[in-house]
Amino acid sequence: MNDVANTKLIQGRTGPWEIVLGLEVHAQVASNAKLFSGAAVGFGAGPNAQVSLVDAAMPGMLPVINRHCVEQAIKTGLGLKAQINERSRFDRKNYFYPDLPQGYQISQFKDPIVGEGEVIVERDDGSTFTVRIERLHLEQDAGKSLHDQDPNFTYVDLNRAGTALMEIVSRPDMRSSEEAAAYVKKLRTILIYLGTCDGDMEKGNLRADVNVSVCRPGAYEKYRATGDFGHLGTRCEIKNVNSFRFMQQAIEYEARRQIEIIEDGGKVDQETRLFDPNKVETRSMRSKEEAHDYRYFPDPDLLPLELDPAWIKQIEAGLPELPDAKKARLQSQYGLSSYDAGVLIAEQAKADFYEAAAKGRDAKLVANWVTNDLAAKLSAGGIDIADSPIKPSAIAELVQLIEEGVISSKIAKDVFERMWAGEGAAGEIVEKQGLKQVSDTGALEKIIDDLIAANPGQASAVKEKPQAIGWFVGQVMKATGGKANPGAVNQLLKAKLGL
Ligand code: MN
Repeated sequence: MNDVANTKLIQGRTGPWEIVLGLEVHAQVASNAKLFSGAAVGFGAGPNAQVSLVDAAMPGMLPVINRHCVEQAIKTGLGLKAQINERSRFDRKNYFYPDLPQGYQISQFKDPIVGEGEVIVERDDGSTFTVRIERLHLEQDAGKSLHDQDPNFTYVDLNRAGTALMEIVSRPDMRSSEEAAAYVKKLRTILIYLGTCDGDMEKGNLRADVNVSVCRPGAYEKYRATGDFGHLGTRCEIKNVNSFRFMQQAIEYEARRQIEIIEDGGKVDQETRLFDPNKVETRSMRSKEEAHDYRYFPDPDLLPLELDPAWIKQIEAGLPELPDAKKARLQSQYGLSSYDAGVLIAEQAKADFYEAAAKGRDAKLVANWVTNDLAAKLSAGGIDIADSPIKPSAIAELVQLIEEGVISSKIAKDVFERMWAGEGAAGEIVEKQGLKQVSDTGALEKIIDDLIAANPGQASAVKEKPQAIGWFVGQVMKATGGKANPGAVNQLLKAKLGL
């Protein structure tokens, strides 16, 4: 086991408390078709335009498993360094929802397709902690009830009904709202790298149910030592949180609420709660049902799922380089800091862009341009790095000009602005605007001689106080429009002023 999470103490009236968090993330499988029907999956289609007879639960319809969705689940399990179960089974989870026409959800209960795994999560300071994955199972999504279309009726849109979800269940291994958000961010990055979920939280394609409980210091360590949940407080589950900000707000609010109940002598009821982002509070949705309330039983329409070990091996061989491995490689191959490498790998396209630009160039300098100047422009314009108007080769050219001393880092900022404005390539701009650094000693000497002659007072002051040389450097820069090579200027000034 790597480092465990860091708890943050919350001061209550009667002493300190700690938060314990476990997450159930629902990730929509990237797939053209649904889990058990051939109907299309897509966002923004007209209502009920993507519903097969199976999704609408017409009598006599039979589900047929989508091989691609199974492959995506296996891939994800491998990416989470998890156990892939060669035999798993689908169960019916019975409950009533107006947007669940079957009257049950096909899910996996006792025998999920993926067992225990782990995710290594980075904190902002670069340290890491490990979140244990309990399981990943495949299940169907429900449809959607629309309450805002008519004053008297609720409409049902079944487009989403039957869409494949991966439910990824973590152990209660996060100890602060920041850690929960960091975990979901990392999980999302891994899924996007794998291509098994697009991670689009705005569309609801990745959403989390957050289990929150509080306990006194020391209790969590007892749970970790024994595995006995009895050491932990009663948990509440906050349903369907679909943004990092809401997740953090919901956790903070919910922990406070539980602490107040206990400190007032009450007892936290195990229940399912909803987060209201407008009021920034959670409220009760329903008392928590236990597994037996759902009357799970094996779906008689589906055979147990048996996976060919050779197929699993084949999928494993085709896995892309994942974020942790890419980060380690960027650090060793390009000599980047853990921080820079972490920023670059957060997005696969950013890492790809970086590697294309860094070839044969000063790798650290390229990292600075990609993660600072370019990233700022892209984010201000809401542009994906894959669509960046400045291409990797253009950054490489700019960095080469700096490396070769053709332009200073300061002038490079101006060149970059012009590149962004579409004025052309770096070399072209430098040529056209006459931005080449002046290293020509003759030209610089003349400027310096004139300056010293015109400012005898300053010149003698520098002899007393050598730091005052900065004034002369500034004047030379001014005279050359910032193009003088700072190294050459300093050297000449020192010589001329007799320092
Ligand atoms: Mn679920």
